[in-house]
Amino acid sequence: MRIVLIGPPGAGKGTQCLRLAEELHVTHLSTGEVLRAARAAGEPVGVAAGEFLDVGKLVPDDLVLQLVAERLRDNDHEQGYLFDGFPRTRNQAEALDYLLAERETPLTAAIELVAPTDELLRRLSQRGRSDDTDATIRERLRQYDELTAPMSGYYAERGVLARVDAVGTVDEVFKLVTEAISGLAKKQQAAAG
Ligand code: AMP
Repeated sequence: MRIVLIGPPGAGKGTQCLRLAEELHVTHLSTGEVLRAARAAGEPVGVAAGEFLDVGKLVPDDLVLQLVAERLRDNDHEQGYLFDGFPRTRNQAEALDYLLAERETPLTAAIELVAPTDELLRRLSQRGRSDDTDATIRERLRQYDELTAPMSGYYAERGVLARVDAVGTVDEVFKLVTEAISGLAKKQQAAAG
């Protein structure tokens, strides 16, 4: 299974992804974590990404795509993937489709976590990550609305999107997400005959 989880900062993507990766036995690929690790390790791509991470701006597509393509190549025999925080732009979504088509393993499901802005701000103010300042939080929410949210339209057109209410407990949201994934996986199997 190839699953994309999208949602604004504070929607609980990270928490849900950890549980999903364990339950579905797929490789969890968080581009945010990969970028932070590449930076900490002093890799050129990570260092180049650093100036964007510091101000909460999206890292340019070519840097992100380079990292994702490398990870897919390194894990050529993996059963499946859970993409966390990727794609974040339509261009990245198209590039991912291309990478997956090359491997003959199309996307199974795109899950969009949905929560009201007040709730997101409340959660983010409690998280305390070093790049969670008021200014970077506001900038990330703005960028999400501008660049990422319209991407759900891209996946809706392809019939792989499910929108999930992210306001419940972790368990409640997890149940909704897994139900949505199995529904989309069945639909894909039926279409493949
Ligand atoms: P995250 O851990 O997903 O909240 O990402 C943290 C930061 O990493 C974001 O604010 C961006 O600067 C950068 N980032 C992560 N994933 C991507 C992506 N797919 N495209 C561009 N920038 C990204």
